[in-house]
Order: sequence, then C-alpha cells, then structure tokens
Amino acid sequence: MRPFTYHRLLSHEARLDALKTCDDAKYISGGMTLLPSIKLGLTLPSDLLDVTALPGMNDITVEARRVRIGAAVTHARIADNAALQAICPAFCDLARQIGDRHVRNRGTIGGSLANNDPAADYPAALVALDSSIETESRTIAIEDFLLGMFETTLDEHELVTAITFDAPDTARYEKFPHPASGYAMAGVFLSRISGAYRAGVTGASGQGAFRCEDLERLLDAGSPMAEIASLRFDDLDIFEDRFGSRAYRENLIRVLARRAAVYLTV
Ligand SMILES: Cc1cc2nc3c(=O)[nH]c(=O)nc-3n(C[C@H](O)[C@H](O)[C@H](O)COP(=O)(O)OP(=O)(O)OC[C@H]3O[C@@H](n4cnc5c(N)ncnc54)[C@H](O)[C@@H]3O)c2cc1C
Repeated sequence: MRPFTYHRLLSHEARLDALKTCDDAKYISGGMTLLPSIKLGLTLPSDLLDVTALPGMNDITVEARRVRIGAAVTHARIADNAALQAICPAFCDLARQIGDRHVRNRGTIGGSLANNDPAADYPAALVALDSSIETESRTIAIEDFLLGMFETTLDEHELVTAITFDAPDTARYEKFPHPASGYAMAGVFLSRISGAYRAGVTGASGQGAFRCEDLERLLDAGSPMAEIASLRFDDLDIFEDRFGSRAYRENLIRVLARRAAVYLTV
C-alpha cells in the first residue's frame, strides 16, 4: 500500500488550503469503499482529507416534513434516528439493510452517493423521494446527480455536504441482498408523494439506479398486481453475470415491486 498523508479537516478553510497544497488529494468519509480501493491499488492518493468533522456534515434535521441529512452521517445513525423514523420509516429501514454492523457504523450517506455503486441502496430511495444533493457550491436534483455506474455529476473535489427531501405520504423499500456482499441484487423503493407514486430501482442495471415510470403509471392507475408482474425492461441495460441472468434480475424487480406495492396499497 503506497503511503499517504492523513488530514482531519475541522473547517472548510482548512479543506480549501489542503486542496491547494496537496498533489493528489481525495476525500475520505467512512473509508468503507475508498480504503479497499487503495489496498487493491485501484487509486493511489497522496493525501486523504477526512471530511467527517467538517461543520454541518453530521446533523440530521427534520423540520415539519423537510429532511436534511449531513453527508457524513453514518448508515447506523440514519437507521436509529427517531425523528426520521417517525416520518419516513422506510428510509431508516433501508439504512438498516446496508452491509453489516461494521459497514453501517463507518459508512456514510455522502460517501455512498459520491461513489454511486450501481448496487448501493440509497440511490433507489433518493430517486423515489425526488431528493436533492447539496454541495458546497450548488444543489443538484438526484436524477441529474446520478450519471451511471460509479459516475456522478460532481466536479473534481466538489464536496457533497447534505441530502434533502420531503417526507412522502408513505414509502416502502424491498431488497434482495446478494448473499455474500449484502449489496442489492435488486432493490425497489416506492413512495407516494401528494397522492402520486414514485419508484426507484437499484442493483439490477449497469446504468445504476433508475426511476421506473412504467411502474409509477400502473400504480397511479390502480392497475392490478398482475400487470406489475408483466412489467418489461427492454430499454434498460439489465445486469447479466454469474450471480444472475438478465431474466432473473428482471423478475426480481417485478417481485420486489409487487411486495412494496402490496404494502403501500393495503
Ligand atoms: C462489506 C461491505 C458491504 C457493503 N454493503 C453495502 C450494501 O448492502 N448497500 C450499500 O448501499 N452499500 C454497501 N456498502 C458500501 C457502504 O455503504 C459504504 O459506506 C459506501 O459505499 C461508501 O461510503 P463511505 O462513507 O465509506 O465512503 P468512502 O469510502 O470514504 O468514500 C467513497 C468515495 O466517495 C468520496 N467521498 C466521500 N465522501 C464524500 C463527500 N462528502 N463528497 C464528495 N466525495 C466524497 C471519496 O473520495 C471516495 O471516492 C458495503 C461496503 C462494504 C465494505
């Protein structure tokens, strides 16, 4: 492992100074993805800038139905937050299903979003909740933020500072975890916002998480579950690998969509 210099940043001024003086710096949050990548030699930063102690990055605020989650909040804190649980329990439930206890205690929502793993859980929810991503310089709608597998619209060294959304009327996350890694083979997050459904799907596509408007239309029209069972994904790049065929993953989406829909419609 190549040596690097670790900096624990306590202010945004210190962050800007470090970026000016470091050769090839990278932000580190929970390190759950970055450290294995460094160990494997996939990335070799000269400096790691720890963003978890920066002001405002660790708060969860719920005001009326508006939710703001700082980028350095861990999955475990999201899972256990009582205010969030009261207005959007599906989001806490999703966080509870990420990886294992160690990953949930270290990994953060901002790190997960910046990484944009196509099998990560949050993107499905954030698409279905019509959320926004705040950085130090702008606010980005989630569908503009996620550009595809491991790609986002973030500029180099642009810092994710928070995630915001309005709590839905109701929501549900259904996931089929990979038995070894815990990542989603497929995950479907359904929400109902002011009476209209929104659906986010993760895990199944090389494009990363996507919004499933066909599913939303069926739910808005009150279509029978049998119609969800025949949803098609012909235009999407659905994964096919040794863990599951394309047909298997398409079927998983339909099954999970029906499970979530049954929960929301009873
Ligand atoms: C065994 C294991 C199982 C896992 N299972 C799941 C799972 O089931 N579901 C799931 O969703 N995830 C899973 N993960 C991933 C986990 O959720 C990580 O927390 C997440 O991918 C990265 O978050 P982090 O805080 O550790 O980021 P880091 O590893 O610190 O950083 C990841 C990347 O984001 C950048 N970055 C970090 N913070 C910011 C920021 N604020 N602004 C801009 N860039 C930033 C870093 O420079 C780096 O490039 C798993 C990970 C492991 C190791």
